[in-house]
This record gives sequence, C-alpha cells and structure tokens, in this order.
Amino acid sequence: MFRKTRLFTPGPTPLLPAAQFAMAAADLHHRTPEFRALFLKVLAQLKTFIGTKNDVIVLACSGTGAMEAAVTNLTSPGDKVLVLSAGKFGERWVALAKTFGCEAVVLTKPYGETFPLDEVKALLTPDVKAVFVQATETSTGVRHDVAGLARLVKGSDALLVVDAITGLGTTTFDVDGDGIDVIIGGSQKALMIPPGLAYLAASEKAWARMETSKQARYYFDLRKERKNAAKGESAYTPSVALIAAMGAALDYLEQQGEGDLAKGRDLLIANAELTAMATRKAAKALGLELFAASPSAAATALKAPAGVSSTDIVKGFKKEFAGVLSDGQGEMKGQIVRIAHIGYLDYLDCVAILAGLEQVVAQLKPGSFQYGDAVRIAQQVYADARNAGVK
Ligand SMILES: *Cc1c(COP(=O)(O)O)cnc(C)c1O
Repeated sequence: MFRKTRLFTPGPTPLLPAAQFAMAAADLHHRTPEFRALFLKVLAQLKTFIGTKNDVIVLACSGTGAMEAAVTNLTSPGDKVLVLSAGKFGERWVALAKTFGCEAVVLTKPYGETFPLDEVKALLTPDVKAVFVQATETSTGVRHDVAGLARLVKGSDALLVVDAITGLGTTTFDVDGDGIDVIIGGSQKALMIPPGLAYLAASEKAWARMETSKQARYYFDLRKERKNAAKGESAYTPSVALIAAMGAALDYLEQQGEGDLAKGRDLLIANAELTAMATRKAAKALGLELFAASPSAAATALKAPAGVSSTDIVKGFKKEFAGVLSDGQGEMKGQIVRIAHIGYLDYLDCVAILAGLEQVVAQLKPGSFQYGDAVRIAQQVYADARNAGVK
C-alpha cells in the first residue's frame, strides 16, 4: 500500500507549505532595509501571537537556548530560585538552574501530575528570585496552572518564567494581565515551521533584573538583542530563512482570523482544544486511558492497554501508516503514547490518527473493540462542538 509520511509529534510538528515556500525564497542579507522590514513585522506579529505589549526577542537556537537565556539573564550565582518539575522539561529547568549555580528549591511531582498551589505558596519565600515552570509539560501531556501561579508570584520580588514552548498556540494566556515575566516559545511547535528559532517576551521587571544579574553571558545577552531588535536587527547573523518562514506562518494565522492575528491564534487554540478533547474521549474506547491529571491541548498522553507496550503502538503506527507518534520519554518509555494537536494538525488529521490507532491496537490486543468505536466518538465530539457554535 501507498503511505504518506506524517508527523503527529508535539515538535517538530507538520510544516505549513506557505512557510516552506517563504523559507526557500528567503535569499536576502540581514543588514538590509528588506530584512529589517521583515524582522520588525515578525516581531510585531509575535507580540500579538503571544498576546503581550512586552518586547519580544527571537534567538537562533532551539527552545532550550531560550530557557538557558532566561536563567543566565535573570539570575546570579547563589540566587534562590523555585523550580516546579513534573516531567522531562521540568527537569531541564532544574538542570539549568543548577548548571548556573542557583540554589534551586525544587517542587517535584510525579509524571502526569501538576503542582497544588498551596504547596507552591509555602515554598515561595520572600528570598526567591525567580520561579520556573512549564505551561504544558510535553513529556506527560499535563497543563499546569500558570494563571494560578501568576497570582501567587504577583507583588513579590520573584520573576515568573514560563516555558510555553508547547503552551503558546494551545493555551490562552493573559501575559500582561497575569504578570508573566518571561514567556518562551519555539519555532517547531505551534508556529508550524522547522526547529531552529526560539522566542520570548520579557516584562519591564525582567528587563530591570537583567541589569543587575551577574551570570556570564555573551551570545544569549538579551539586553544586546533588545537594542538590536528595536532597529529590526539582531546582534549576530539571524536565521534569515526561518524568520521568513515565521512571518509566513503568522500571516497565515492572520488570514485564518480574517485579518486579525489574535483571532487566528484563538482559532488555532480552539482547534487544539477540540482535537485534544476528541482524542481523549475516543481513545478510551480502545482501552487507552488518559495519563495526565490536568490534560493539555498540546498533546494527549495515553497509557498503553494492559499487556501492550506503547513502543509497539508507536512502531506499529510507523510501519503500517508511516505516521510518527511519540513514545514516552525517559522513564515513561514503553508506557505512554503521545499524540500532538499543536500547530498544523486539524480535525481530519485527528480522525485519521484515531482510525490508524484502531488498526494498530486491534493487532496488539485483538477483540477488545470494534472498528469505528473511537472514530464514532470523535465524530460526535465534533458534531456537538459545531452545534454548540464552536468555530
Ligand atoms: C519542545 C520543548 C522544549 C524545547 O526543546 P528543544 O529541543 O530545545 O527545542 C522545551 N520545553 C517544552 C515543554 C517543549 O515541548
């Protein structure tokens, strides 16, 4: 049979064709009026996409580079910081804080769980300089309560730093209203373009901290980037082609929103919410139980049925349909399958994934359901949403 390769992974996500064309056509020098105009446009669009008036910085690195930049620009060695960790990416904050000599107080929760706000509150002593968290922990499919955390941090000296690398475009944030000091995104997630760019928005409180923080930094000096960005430039050679692709992706969202980028972003979030809900409800019919206590719309993590390894589901899906699902990471390998809803994945993709899962799971666990059981549930979720007026 003929098979199309498809990514159903929470990063990299499927590429937007218009962005690929823009990338291929981006043969321009970065110290020219043409590039400055492009970059200034993209920076303004990113502000709208993130939903902030804060200055936005684009860095030529994967998402982790921006996480490192947040630590090196906002802390000093010996600073007490609070790190919330309940998955692979939370552990990355812990490792970064320790690498740069911060005194990390870590609130750890088991994979699949989130952080009770009263426990966070108890650890948020006046000497805490920054709080690091994920908006959505991609390794477990959990959404953390960023607005709730922001309420705790507001009014204190601490900065709230949110890795929203899969949160942006799948979660509604009130960045300025809630007081999120740094929010970080990555190109290969909701923006539908290849890996290689990270972006972040920083509050005035965060910019002020950068003037006194004492970590060594050179390439990732955000103050230097801020000065350059104001002129449509970056301190070093920017990733010109990816910035062109990013511009095309943001234009596409603007078109989806009939000229309103914020509306286009909201449609992207609604799309992720709907397909995530359909996937959660439908997968149950195949014996795949939800892993996350508070599920995100970025990716759904499902427990493999008893006696079945999630690795075999992922491998079977690839072999049968050339479709790429994600296995669990680290200690979760073999236990959970992760299905993405972020970026350029729509309802028809969602139905195709569920139909494919029916085929694969039926071979690993014969007789446990009928073909169409999962798809039928998804169809009902879609119809109910449409009838309720969801756009
Ligand atoms: C993808 C991702 C990252 C960044 O990983 P990179 O490989 O450095 O791009 C960080 N945090 C979360 C939650 C992610 O999903």
